[in-house]
Amino acid sequence: MSCVKPEGAIPGAKGTGGLDFNAYDQMEPRAPGKVPMEMRNGKPVREANLTPDGLYKPNYNILTPHMRSPEYVQMSTAAAITLGLVEGKMLGCSCTRCLNLLLTYPEGCRANCAYCGLARHREAERNYADRNFIRVDWPAVSMDEVVDIVAKDVAGSPFHRMCISMITHPNSDEDTVTVLKKWTARIDPDAIPISILSNPTTMTRNDVQVLRDLGSDIFTVALDAATPELFDRTRGKGVQSPHTWAKYWEIMMEARDIFGPKKFGAHVIVGMGETEYDVMQVVQKIVDLGGHSHMFCFFPEKGSLMDHLPATPRDQWRRVQLARYLVDYRDVRVEHMKFDEQGRIIDFGMPASELSFIIDAGIAFRTSGCPGKFADDISACDRPYGDSPPSNIASYPFPLKDVDLRKVRSQLDMNRPGENYTPGEEFDL
Ligand code: SF4
Repeated sequence: MSCVKPEGAIPGAKGTGGLDFNAYDQMEPRAPGKVPMEMRNGKPVREANLTPDGLYKPNYNILTPHMRSPEYVQMSTAAAITLGLVEGKMLGCSCTRCLNLLLTYPEGCRANCAYCGLARHREAERNYADRNFIRVDWPAVSMDEVVDIVAKDVAGSPFHRMCISMITHPNSDEDTVTVLKKWTARIDPDAIPISILSNPTTMTRNDVQVLRDLGSDIFTVALDAATPELFDRTRGKGVQSPHTWAKYWEIMMEARDIFGPKKFGAHVIVGMGETEYDVMQVVQKIVDLGGHSHMFCFFPEKGSLMDHLPATPRDQWRRVQLARYLVDYRDVRVEHMKFDEQGRIIDFGMPASELSFIIDAGIAFRTSGCPGKFADDISACDRPYGDSPPSNIASYPFPLKDVDLRKVRSQLDMNRPGENYTPGEEFDL
């Protein structure tokens, strides 16, 4: 293993006020500042109108070229490394199994979600294609080049899935269709299934239907916030953003109807101020509707309106991660679980020996997302270090080793008799 030292202040060690969870009252986002007129809507990039020259790596020292979907897309650093477009290594993983593509425009996303590095208020300091998102850079490249590379050897591709992430932009619905068509014209969607990470705010039922008809396999909604109040505070009126809880659920229900069981779901971020009981209610509701939830651990993204707040404490995160796995894949119901007066899980609703077996399998603590080709409960989308630094991993992008399991058990306060975890022992210093 390579030498990566644990960082000094460990994100995820403690929550607000030293608690073992992030409480609603203390997870207040900052108010967005005013964006100067000359920086709005990607004006500097549109006016300079520089032609891109091959792959564009985010760089704050040069003016960003004019790149626009559907001709251009951004991709996660992990996907760019896997495609051979960017040099680099990821701790513990040789590649990612999901090709995450993100629509791109100089005007950027027109929403202002408080936890997101792509949010509109960042126009004041950074051009869209230069913004960090889930802790990493997103290089931009021509969509034709992406398709060329993958189409050369579809059978031998490391990717188990491709995902198009929409953003809030007036052209996003139409351009998602074009990107999808460019892909399916040369790559069989049965060979590499396609997911859509949707932006419901601009969508109609017909948009959902078209994406299904064109060969996409799974449709997810980035619900992110687990309660209507939290949604409004972090993605709606609270931060001058256009999203509503009702519209997100409306489009999720359309997806349920059109895509069918196990082929729709929602992303949820844990630790933004909801209780564990709140988030488990959403998980159960989605399972009862026939779908799946994919979980992220809240991490204070640099430059976002929540970058002053603590990452989700690992105790809270592990409890929810484990409970969500039991509901999604082991037929446990939230009604079987017990919660304390602050909504924390105190009983997982399963005999201790069975629970211990599931913990030791480790799958519950891996990154959750749309399935790949290994197993239904192993995500193709491993998003290496998207919700934590490698020094205190929230979602494991690789199968857990014994030392990782001991760390997880210690975070859950469920050590095996006679065993314990020593901080830092998983690193080869
Ligand atoms: S809609 Fe999505 S991309 Fe846009 S600010 Fe919100 S979370 Fe970020």
